[in-house]
Amino acid sequence: MNKSRFTPDADGYYGEFGGAYIPEMLVPNITELRDNYLRIIESEEFRNEFHELLRDYSGRPTPLYFAKRLSEKYHTNVYLKREDLNHTGAHKINNTIGQVLLAEKLGKKRIIAETGAGQHGVATATVCALKGLECVVYMGALDVDRQAPNVIKMKMLGATVVPVESGNKTLKDATNEAMRDWINHPDDTYYIIGSVVGPHPYPDLVSRLQSVISDEISVQLNARIGRAYPDYVMACVGGGSNAAGGFYAFLDNPAVKLIGAEAAGLGVNTSKTAATLALGQTGILHGSKSKLIQDQYGQVIEPYSISAGLDYPGVGPLHSYLQAIGRCTYIPVTDQEALDAAMELTRLEGIIPALESAHALALLPKLNWNPGEEMVIILSGRGDKDMDTYSKYFDHESH
Ligand SMILES: *Cc1c(COP(=O)(O)O)cnc(C)c1O
Repeated sequence: MNKSRFTPDADGYYGEFGGAYIPEMLVPNITELRDNYLRIIESEEFRNEFHELLRDYSGRPTPLYFAKRLSEKYHTNVYLKREDLNHTGAHKINNTIGQVLLAEKLGKKRIIAETGAGQHGVATATVCALKGLECVVYMGALDVDRQAPNVIKMKMLGATVVPVESGNKTLKDATNEAMRDWINHPDDTYYIIGSVVGPHPYPDLVSRLQSVISDEISVQLNARIGRAYPDYVMACVGGGSNAAGGFYAFLDNPAVKLIGAEAAGLGVNTSKTAATLALGQTGILHGSKSKLIQDQYGQVIEPYSISAGLDYPGVGPLHSYLQAIGRCTYIPVTDQEALDAAMELTRLEGIIPALESAHALALLPKLNWNPGEEMVIILSGRGDKDMDTYSKYFDHESH
């Protein structure tokens, strides 16, 4: 079992962040998972099955693409880690493949998940179809209306999508409903969480499953430049799973600068923002202690970003810790900066990125690097799902 200062302690804490703040009735479920996950995911049998599916089903290793025209523009060496080329179009499938295998090993027959924008719901429904497992996805009723194409995909994949009518009818309410379901079905049901959030052991579990991203970067860079690490890794941060996966293998190497892009929305000085690490205070959300945007009374502020995958009021506890100890830097990126970066990548490289990933691309003009440094940007997903937003921007720009 590899233990470093970047893995949580026995109670799930990274420094002061993390833990498992859960209702009494969830303790048996969480304890079963906590006591078994490391043994299972580190077993040879699991690793073989996991890597076979990543290879043959999702198409890994994803390319590490040297972006020549983008590099010329910024006078540096930019590589894109092409998570957008995964099956279902983003890194989320790495995690759902891993967790569905873990669920099988724990003898679970039924999978539940909650989803906001629907991307995690689709990735979960996909692996449940693959494994022939029952799948129930909780989704705020408002999100069901806003994310119709993903709802259709989930239904086509055989999942039951449950619209949640309580509260604001968005992600938080869907999460509460999924927790309630899990409490009521402790024996046969496994809850797949989609990012490095939630109670211990999820942040550690999801970080380890996504660490395949940085393991591959290391091998690919070594083959290309004869050095197994870059000078920079940059990634967007919603809950923080593609960033955790992209950073993981390099956390112990201080020569690698790690930069996260969080969604500033209309700006950190406005109320329309999701810049948790710039503005947040310590609080408890979704079962763990982390940074969180809240008002003076500790009420969670409804986050805003043009990108549905970054529109989250919290962040995984690992990132709050990495910021606190100065290991990673997190920079807010506005909607407009992300849109401009998406257009730039599309025109320079012929790659239409997800709006989330565009936030990481927008870091390039904000950093001061030295000539010849090697920069890796995690391209977490493809832009197909964002064409409505892009077309509005495009109409606006050409008038
Ligand atoms: C969900 C999503 C994200 C944000 O999630 P993280 O857990 O922060 O990685 C980023 N990019 C894409 C394409 C997504 O679908």
